[in-house]
Order: sequence, then C-alpha cells, then structure tokens
Amino acid sequence: MKTLDTYDFLGKKALIRVDFNVPLNDKYEITDDTRITATIPTIKKILKDGGSCILMSHLGRPKDGPTEKYSLKHLVNPLSVILGLQVKFADDCIGASAIEQAANLKAGEVLLLENLRFYKEEEKGDVVFAEKLSKLGNVWVNDAFGTAHRAHASTAVIGQFFTDRVCGYVMQAEVENAEKILNNAERPFTAIMGGAKISDKILLIERLLDKVDNLIIGGGMTYTFTKAQGGAIGKSLLEADKMPLALELIEKAKIKGVNLIMPLDNVCGDKFSNDANRMTVATGQISEEWEGFDIGPESVKLFTETISKSKTILWNGPMGVFEFPNFATGTNAIAEAVVKATEENGAFSLIGGGDSASAINNAGYGDRVSYVSTGGGALLEYMEGKTLPGVAALA
Ligand code: AMP
Repeated sequence: MKTLDTYDFLGKKALIRVDFNVPLNDKYEITDDTRITATIPTIKKILKDGGSCILMSHLGRPKDGPTEKYSLKHLVNPLSVILGLQVKFADDCIGASAIEQAANLKAGEVLLLENLRFYKEEEKGDVVFAEKLSKLGNVWVNDAFGTAHRAHASTAVIGQFFTDRVCGYVMQAEVENAEKILNNAERPFTAIMGGAKISDKILLIERLLDKVDNLIIGGGMTYTFTKAQGGAIGKSLLEADKMPLALELIEKAKIKGVNLIMPLDNVCGDKFSNDANRMTVATGQISEEWEGFDIGPESVKLFTETISKSKTILWNGPMGVFEFPNFATGTNAIAEAVVKATEENGAFSLIGGGDSASAINNAGYGDRVSYVSTGGGALLEYMEGKTLPGVAALA
C-alpha cells in the first residue's frame, strides 16, 4: 500500500476522498470540526510537495438530490480559515464545470466538490459515476476511514481507475492502531464493551474472547446478560432473543480463560430523562418500575482495579446513557481510569467504534488517551476481521 510519506505529489492533482460529514446547526455552522481537522495533515503534505487537492466527501443523508441543508458549500469558509488559503468550490461533483475547475487548479490550490450523495450512484457504487469522478485527478488518496466499510463509488470503486492509489494519514493511523490492538497487544489486555445493544457487538465480542485477558461489560447490553442469568432488570434495555447468546458468551469466556467482569450495581431511573428520580441498585435486583441507566460506584471500583493493571485497553461503548449528565458518572469515571492507566502505567489505550469517541470527548479526556478512532462502524467491522472495501481498494 502506498502511503503519503512514500509518494511525491509534485505536479500532481490529488483527488482525495475525505470524511467531511460534520454536524451543522440551523445556521449551517459546524458544531464539531474534528473530522475536518483530522484530515488537514494529509492536505498540507500534498500542498507542501507541490501538488493540488481536489476534496470529495458526503455530508448527511440527502434523499432527493441537491439540498441546501446538505451542501458542502457551508464548509468552504471554515475550511479556508483552517488551511489559511481560499478554498475553491465546484457546485457539482461531476460534469463540465467540475472538470474545468479541476483542470485549471494550480499547485498549492484546493478545490472542494459538492456533496457526492447528491447522486444516488455514489452509495450504489456505480462504476460509470466512479469513472467520471476519477477524471478530475491523476492520483487517488483515500483518507475517509469512517466510510471505508462501504463499497461506494468514491470510497472503493474509483480505485480501479487509478494506477496511483495512496493511503491518507487518517486512514493509515486508524489501520495501524487497530492492527496494534489486534495483533500486537501487550498484556494484560482489557477490552471494555458498552453501548446499547449486544446485537451490534456480537462478532467483536466473540473475536476479542480469543485475544483479551479481561472483558469488562457495561452499558445497556449488560441487562440482557443479567436477565439471562435469572436476575431482575425492571424496565432496563433487554434483547430477549439474545439471552441464549449471552449465556453462550459467558461459557466461551470461561473456556478460553477470559476474566469476564460485569457490573455489581446500577444507577437506575424511573423515566428516560436526565431529571428522573435515581436509585442505586445491586445487579439483578432492579424492581418493576425502574430502569438501569448507568453503572454504580461498586462497579466503577471493580472495573478501575482491572483497568489500572492493564497494558492494553480497548474501549468501545459508553457505560450508560452518558448523554444525560446525571447518568454519565460511570462513563466519566471509566474514562478517567483509562486516562490514568495511559499516563501512569504506560498503557496503550484505543477508544473507538460507535459512540465511544463522543463519550470520551464529552468527558473531556479525548486528548489524554493513546488514540481516539473516528471510525465508528468502520472500526467495529475492521476489528471484527472483515475486509473493508475502502482499505482493500488501496492495495
Ligand atoms: P453504541 O453506539 O452501541 O456505542 O451505543 C451508545 C448508546 O447506548 C448511547 O446513546 C447510550 O445512551 C446508550 N446506552 C448506554 N447504556 C444504556 C442503558 N443502560 N440504557 C439505555 N441506553 C444506553
């Protein structure tokens, strides 16, 4: 795989698939520019070499072609400010005008194309559409790890039209860090799994059982395990059809010698709201009217003990409904424990998949762990051992 550091972009027009799928408010202002800033080193390296950049991305999920709300033109000014140069904009990602603007682009200049998903061909992975896009540049750079699990036109299919395919810095870091966790983990290796559902994480949990020393389970998915073992969970989240699987996973952990650690207590609420009445209840003893929304203090203590002794930590999924401050205590305490293990014990900590990045950033610890993946679903699939089309297309 070609990387940015092994490729000279002098005189090249780099067509770069970036992930600029950022949240915008009602005034079309960016509320979190993490995904943009992540890709700046890739863009700067190409410009520094003496190349030019043509950036392509999706934004949101437009259903019926061009929509003001999903236009990438809203990103032109903020991106210009971040890069310190005036970014040009093509109001269509293919067609005569885009071709002309790309052809006229000089070394050191940046052109942003309109939302790829204004064409349904993008998500369909249409070959003709991919070929039209490919005409705009003479080297393809893929830096959109977050969409690498999709075989879309710009993320994978387009690769066949280039002899030069280069892995961007974001993509490279995501793959290298995931590989380090999967194949080169220093022991003890602890995985912390949370989030809403077991069903989203079954494959990953099964794979991790072959790799980790400790598996900590928190978040909404714990209640299916508790119920399966005969405990009372009140109105807590339950995937009834996954109860046999939960028992199977407990058994597999035993066989493989993995230390499976579940919450001892839970902070419950009487309604799904930040200002619900709260009560801390021992695991398996939640009464009818109550719902578990966070792990309790005894669980935090238990989890922290294991985390503090770990040399490798993978954290996927919050310990509770962290979006409600009153139920974010467990998630924040675990974030703090991961930070401590990283800073004081030299542990390698990777946070990622699903909502985990926002949970750690929300806790204010995003820059104090080893790596926060922006990958979401793509990281989950990579960790599960699947081949990601966007990564495979770079080979
Ligand atoms: P995921 O995307 O799988 O990481 O799941 C994250 C979501 O799980 C967040 O929106 C949390 O609010 C939710 N969640 C975590 N714990 C619970 C819980 N005990 N009950 C309901 N939802 C939860």
